[in-house]
Amino acid sequence: MSFRPPKGTDDVLAPESQAWRRALRLWDELTTRYGYPPVMTPVVEATELFERGTGDSTEIVTKEMYTFADRAGRSLTLRPEVTPGVVRAYLQAGMQGAWKGAYSGPCFRYEQPQAGRRRQFWQVGVEYLGVEGPTADAEVIELGYRYLEAVGVPDLELRVNSLGDPECRPAYVEELRSHLRSIAADLSADSAKLIDVNPLRALDSKTDKPLLGDAPKPADRLCAACRRHHESVRRALDGLRVPYTQDDSLVRGLDYYTRTAFEYVGRGLDAAQNAVGGGGRYDGLAEALGGRAVPGLGFALGVERMLLSLAEPVDPSLGAYLVSETGPEDAIAAVSLLRREGASVDFDTEGRSVKAQFRAARRLGAPVILVWRGEGRLVDAQTEGERREMPLGEAPAWLKAR
Ligand code: AMP
Repeated sequence: MSFRPPKGTDDVLAPESQAWRRALRLWDELTTRYGYPPVMTPVVEATELFERGTGDSTEIVTKEMYTFADRAGRSLTLRPEVTPGVVRAYLQAGMQGAWKGAYSGPCFRYEQPQAGRRRQFWQVGVEYLGVEGPTADAEVIELGYRYLEAVGVPDLELRVNSLGDPECRPAYVEELRSHLRSIAADLSADSAKLIDVNPLRALDSKTDKPLLGDAPKPADRLCAACRRHHESVRRALDGLRVPYTQDDSLVRGLDYYTRTAFEYVGRGLDAAQNAVGGGGRYDGLAEALGGRAVPGLGFALGVERMLLSLAEPVDPSLGAYLVSETGPEDAIAAVSLLRREGASVDFDTEGRSVKAQFRAARRLGAPVILVWRGEGRLVDAQTEGERREMPLGEAPAWLKAR
């Protein structure tokens, strides 16, 4: 067969998929605990949603979207990120006031593929809409941090910054623009191009970092309200004992952020793509989409990148394997009973030899092997020497207690 997955997309099979399952299970658990119910929006949306939402000067929109005309000639785009879709859904459902949603699903960007940078990749994230107080920022930032801690991302670091708001940002952006013009000859072509369209994003440049030390920083030019907001967010994080660093050059690649912006970095990863995720406040996004003003914030984490930073898959897929001495027709009822009692068990449906069944059990990494002798009798094959025989009915409790 000559088919391969398209460039930059991946098949995920066990054991890697078990690390995924663990990460997504922890995601469901944690977002449930923080009061974020799931929200599902289409994988494909009107192209204009991202042009207006993500921002038409961003790399994502100018270079990376999978855009196509459907059979009726509408311009559609595979979502490069989830936030604009969720804000659209909130507005269209006529939601009012505080609202929370957690998502999990694939996104698409036409990027140069490498490890941790894929064309189809999976994001988990939350949005908290209709809220403007700094405590909301602290809750969202803490949730992402606790989640990445629970997953086990090593050397986790949180960076925060404030980008100001429509009150203080325009003057700051002009000041930054003049500064960048004065050093334009030394800047990379990419940064030079940003001077007119979006100078703030030039601060994000890795290539030009050494040149930007003297550039004015957003955090130094905040208006009083933005400064208070940022100080409150930082104080709340201190109180929650979430460690962070203030990163004056953090701006992130999307256009819609106001005030709080943050990034989670796994120091174990390659420098070019060590951000496992990030987010911020986007008080102007709903209006940019043509809706009413709705403040809010959120973050997105990349699952591939997160898992890349982990040493190994850590979720055994199987609790036990049942080796049958009396054939599969006889064993399936016993296996079914164990499963209905909540145990995770697999067995051989093909009537292979006992030796082959043991081999299969080991290949699947079953931590417990049970031998089925028929007539309700099970043997624990693990405890060498004194193999324990037990009635089938006792096995579920025994498995649970192990
Ligand atoms: P962004 O929406 O650009 O802020 O990205 C948020 C997170 O999504 C990043 O920190 C990555 O973990 C992940 N991500 C973004 N683009 C890609 C990609 N092309 N491949 C894999 N992960 C990605």
